[in-house]
Amino acid sequence: MNYQPDNIFAKILRGEIPNDTVYEDDEVLAFRDIGPQAPVHVLVIPKGEYGSLDDFTRDAPAELVGRFFQKVGEIARRLGVDGEGYRVIANTGHNGGQEVQHFHIHICAGRRLGRMIARE
Ligand code: AMP
Repeated sequence: MNYQPDNIFAKILRGEIPNDTVYEDDEVLAFRDIGPQAPVHVLVIPKGEYGSLDDFTRDAPAELVGRFFQKVGEIARRLGVDGEGYRVIANTGHNGGQEVQHFHIHICAGRRLGRMIARE
C-alpha cells in the first residue's frame, strides 16, 4: 500500500498536530488516544512510514518489528497496567476497521474489557 504522508499520525510525528505523549524514542511514539475507549487508551506507532501492520511486517526489518513489540510491552509496564492486564489491538485494513493509515497498536486497560469482537 502506498503510504499517505497526509495522515493524521504523520502530522503528529512532524509536530504539526499536538499529542499527549507518554513515551518517545528514536523509533516509536506512544500517545493517548483522543477518543479513549477505556480508562487507559494509548496508541503506539513506529516513526517509519508504514501504513498498516501488513506493511510493517512485510517491509520493516525483523529487528525493528521485534523491538517495536518489545516496546509495546515496556510501555504497558510504564503505564502500570501489566499487573491487572490490558488488551492490544491492531486494526488492519478495511475489514479490520482501520481509520488512520499509519500502523498503530492500541493499548487499552484500566477496566475489565468487554467482548473481543462485538456481535453485529
Ligand atoms: P483505528 O481505527 O485503529 O485506525 O484507530 C485510530 C484511532 O486514532 C482512534 O481510536 C482515534 O480516536 C485515534 N485518533 C484520531 N486522531 C487522533 C489524534 N489527533 N490524537 C490521538 N488519537 C487520535
